[in-house]
Amino acid sequence: MPPIRILPEPLVNQIAAGEVVERPASVVKELLENAIDAQAARIAVELQDAGKKLIRVSDDGLGIPAADAPLALASHATSKIAAAEDLEGITSLGFRGEALASIASVADVRLVSRTADAMEAVEVCVSGGKAEPPRPASGPVGTAVEVRNLFRYVPARRKFLKTDATEMGHITEQVARIALAYPAVHLVVTHNGRNVYELPPTDAVRSRIAVFFGEEAAASLLEAASEEPGGRLWGLVGPPHLARATAAAQYLFINGRYVRDRGLGHALREAYRGLLEGGRQPVAFLFLTVPADRVDVNVHPTKIEVRLRDAHLLYGQVLAAVRERLLGPGITPHVAPPSSAPGRQAAPGEYAVGGTPPGPAADAIAAAREARVRGAVADFLRSPPAGAQGRLPLAGRAGAPAARSSAAGQGGHAGHPPPARSPGAEYGAPGARDGRALAGGEPAAGRPPAGSPGAEYGAPGADGRPAGAEHDDTPAPSRVVQLHNTYLVAETADGILIVDQHALHERILFEEIMSRLAAGPLEGQRLLLPVTLDLTDREMAALAEHRDALARLGIEAEALGPRSVGIHAFPSLLERADPAAVLRDLVAWALAADAPPSPRQVLEKLAHVAACREAVKAGDPLAREEIEALLACREASDLAVTCPHGRPSALILSKADLEKRFGRDYAAPPARPADEPLPY
Ligand code: ADP
Ligand code: MG
Repeated sequence: MPPIRILPEPLVNQIAAGEVVERPASVVKELLENAIDAQAARIAVELQDAGKKLIRVSDDGLGIPAADAPLALASHATSKIAAAEDLEGITSLGFRGEALASIASVADVRLVSRTADAMEAVEVCVSGGKAEPPRPASGPVGTAVEVRNLFRYVPARRKFLKTDATEMGHITEQVARIALAYPAVHLVVTHNGRNVYELPPTDAVRSRIAVFFGEEAAASLLEAASEEPGGRLWGLVGPPHLARATAAAQYLFINGRYVRDRGLGHALREAYRGLLEGGRQPVAFLFLTVPADRVDVNVHPTKIEVRLRDAHLLYGQVLAAVRERLLGPGITPHVAPPSSAPGRQAAPGEYAVGGTPPGPAADAIAAAREARVRGAVADFLRSPPAGAQGRLPLAGRAGAPAARSSAAGQGGHAGHPPPARSPGAEYGAPGARDGRALAGGEPAAGRPPAGSPGAEYGAPGADGRPAGAEHDDTPAPSRVVQLHNTYLVAETADGILIVDQHALHERILFEEIMSRLAAGPLEGQRLLLPVTLDLTDREMAALAEHRDALARLGIEAEALGPRSVGIHAFPSLLERADPAAVLRDLVAWALAADAPPSPRQVLEKLAHVAACREAVKAGDPLAREEIEALLACREASDLAVTCPHGRPSALILSKADLEKRFGRDYAAPPARPADEPLPY
C-alpha cells in the first residue's frame, strides 16, 4: 500500500464539496442561508444558464469585516460558533464553516462585502481553491457572492448536471424553502436576465405558497396551530382532496430550517388516516418552533435531517393539531373543491377508503351508506338463488371513443361526470355514471332504471334476460352484491368471490392501455376547453422531459405560462380520469424517482396512473351493468389477480375454506356430495 498522507487542503475541500455541492441548487441554498444568517432584509439571486454559468446572491445584511473576508472562504472557518458547547444551541442556519470553501474548490468565486461602518467594500477571489489577496472594492452594505463555472475543476461532476429546466427546478425548490420559512425577507430571482420571482415581504405564508403551488391549492389550506411546552406548531394543511401521489408537497420547518423527519412525517400521515385513499400523500406546510437546545442539527452535512430530543412529544403534537383541524368544522368533503380547471371533478370516492369523512354531513352519509348496505344484504338474502347469468358482453370495451365531445358543450372537461354527486344520492341513481361503460367503451345498453338499494341482482328475469340462462363456463357469478360501495361479493360454483372493485378495474384498464400502446400511440381527443393546472418549476421541467410519453398516450399538454399548463387533448379511452390529476401524479412520480426513468418506465407509469384515475373508486356505487361488466372482464382476463400496484383485486373463499372455518368439515364423511347441505 502507498504511504498514508495528509491530503492538501484544496483536495480536502473538494471532497467536502462532494457532500455539500451536488448541483447549482446546492450553491443557491448555501448562499441564501448565509444571507439569512446575516439578517438580510432583501436577497437577490441572479442566475445564468440555470446557475451552471453564474450564480450571484447579493444581500443587504450585516456584511463581513474586511479583515475577516479571506477567512470566509477558508475551510472550517465560521463566525457562527466558537466552542463545542455552541453546538448545543444552534440558532443560525449555517455553523460548519465549510460551504464557501467547498464551493470555491469547485468553481470560481468572488465575494464582495461591506459592513455598515466600513468606508468601502472588500473583495476576495478564489479560483479552484486558490485565493487571491483581498483588495478594496466598491459596493453597498451587505454581501454579494458570485459563483462562476460551477464544477469547472471537477469535470466529472459537471457531466451529471441535467437540463437547464431541471436544474432550475431544483433551484426553485431551494428558493421556495427559504421563501416559505422567511416570508418577511424580500426575495428576487432572475434567470438569464428575466425575472423569475419577485417576492415582496409579507406576513402571510399563504401568499407565498400561492406563488409556488398555485392560488387554488393555497386558498383551500386549513390553518392548524398548537402551543405546548415542547414546542409551538403552526401550519397550513391541505384538505384531503388536495392530496397528491407523493410527499413532495410536505414541508416541515423546524426553527426556520427546512428538514425531513420520518417521525413527524409519519405523524402527519397518521393525522390523515382514513381520509385519504391508499398511498395518497397530504399537502402540508408545518412550522415548528422548539428550544434550540432540544434539536441537534449537527447530524447531516446539508442539515436536511435533525435529531429531536422530544420527538415523541412533537409527534403527538403534530398528530393532534392536524387531526383536530381536519376533523373540525369547516371542512366539507363532499363538495367539489374550488377549481379553475374546468370540469375538474369532485372526488367523493377518494374519501371513502378506510373511514368516513368527518363532520355532521358525514354522519348523514355514513347513516345513509349503512342503511343501503343493510338493505342490500337483506335483499340479497331474500332473493331466491338464480342460475348463472348470461354474460353481458362488454361491447365497445376496446371500442369507439365515447361521449366526451357531447358533454363538452356543458363547459366542463368533456365526458366527465357532473361534479359532486350529492352524498346522499341513491345508489346508482340515473346519471351517476350513466352511459359510461367500464372500460371506456360505449354506454352499456339496456340499463334498467336503477335505484333499488344495493345494486343487488340475481332475481330471475329482473334484468330482462331469461332467468337462469344457463351458461357453461360457470365461474360466472350467479349472485352478486356490492357492499360498502367497494367490494363485489359473488357466489361462484365453488364458493365466494370477493372483488375489490377499484383494484380489479384498475388492473383491467392497465392491461387494456398497455396492449393498445403496443399497437401504437393512443388516440387523443381534443378538449373543447383546455384543462389548466398550476405547477412548480420543477414540475414544469419534469413534464417537459416526458412530453413524448404523454404524446404517445394521447395527452397533449402545453405550457400556458411559466408555471401553468393547459391540457388540450386527452386519450379518448379515458373517460372518467381527471386529466389534471393524471398529469400531477405522473409529474410527482417522475420527481420522486432516484434516477431518471426510462421512456418505457414513464409509459408504464402513465398507464398505471391513468388506469388508477380512470377506474371506479372504492366508495363508488356501481350500476348493475357495471358490476356485470367488471366481473365479465375479470373472467376474460387471466391477469386481473392484482391491481397494477400489486394489491390483490380478489379474494376467493372456497366452499372447503368455509366449511373448515365453520367446522362443517368436522367428522363429515368424505362420501358426502359437495353440494348436499348438512341436515342441520
Ligand atoms: P457557515 O455559514 O457554516 O459559517 P460558510 O462557509 O457558509 O460557513 O460561511 C463562512 C462565514 O462567512 C460565515 O460564518 C460568515 O461569517 C461569513 N459569511 C458568509 N456569507 C455571508 C453573508 N452573506 N453575509 C455575511 N457574512 C457571511
Ligand atoms: Mg453557510
